[in-house]
Amino acid sequence: MLKKLIFVAASALLVACGGETAKEWRAQHVIFIGLDGLTSLGVEKSETPNFDFVMQQGCYTMEKRTVLPSVSAPNWCAMFTGAPVEMFGRHDNSEGYCFKPLMLNERKEFQTVFSQFRKENPDAEMGCVTEWGNITCYIDSCCFNFVNVPSSSDIGCREGLETTIQYIKDKKPAMFFLQIDQIDHAGHGTRYDSEEYNKTVTLVDGMVGEIIQATKDAGIYDDCVFVLSSDHGGIEFGHGGITMNEMETMFAICGKGIKKGGQKITDTMMQFDVAPTIAKVFNLDYPQCWRGQAMDVFE
Ligand SMILES: [Zn+2]
Repeated sequence: MLKKLIFVAASALLVACGGETAKEWRAQHVIFIGLDGLTSLGVEKSETPNFDFVMQQGCYTMEKRTVLPSVSAPNWCAMFTGAPVEMFGRHDNSEGYCFKPLMLNERKEFQTVFSQFRKENPDAEMGCVTEWGNITCYIDSCCFNFVNVPSSSDIGCREGLETTIQYIKDKKPAMFFLQIDQIDHAGHGTRYDSEEYNKTVTLVDGMVGEIIQATKDAGIYDDCVFVLSSDHGGIEFGHGGITMNEMETMFAICGKGIKKGGQKITDTMMQFDVAPTIAKVFNLDYPQCWRGQAMDVFE
């Protein structure tokens, strides 16, 4: 009995300390940048030196496939949860669930990569800046230290970018997610594949460059993994359909512990493979409710 008590006490102490049981991380920081409405064609046709840098330093695909419908919420949620729409229950851009999710965690959220990170790393810094406010409903935001929605997401707005740069420099987060909405605005406003659209792709590419620079200024660059991922593409003035312009999206990853040299990912990739891939950087457990697979991008 005494032995059992000592074991229970020791286990409780280990759990309470958190860090005592921490797993080895492949990198100390993940900077995950979500590029809303970025078409693979847009990357091909625009000047994108910073996207190219991430792709050429690490691994990438332009053919990561959306879940359906090819709209924002289902695809962001698939990336966050590692699961398909039928499981997490968000079929459109509503803030609430469209139908009953197959699981809910203690905060009444479907388990995201952020939830899992928090569960295993109670003291780690985790932040989110999102130009589209609805994302705060999808990330299990209560497990974040910092969540910010800029007052504007107009094309050229730098508020979210400036907040991001300041936050990275001040807090050096272990896990950070930024969603930039501006490319999608350009698509809806001027047509996906218009000159204005491609100019906005280049503008946002510059923002990514500034964020990479911010990690250098913060002294964490060498210990970062950078992830670029688009939720859906677009055609004419919209998206939601089943053309490849809408359904094929970019994924690029580079940094510490990631295979180098601009390897094209030839394995199949779905949106719900993003969460397990990010989870692998931190060696997180794989929740039973996930269905995606970590991509073969690690050294
Ligand atoms: Zn979107």
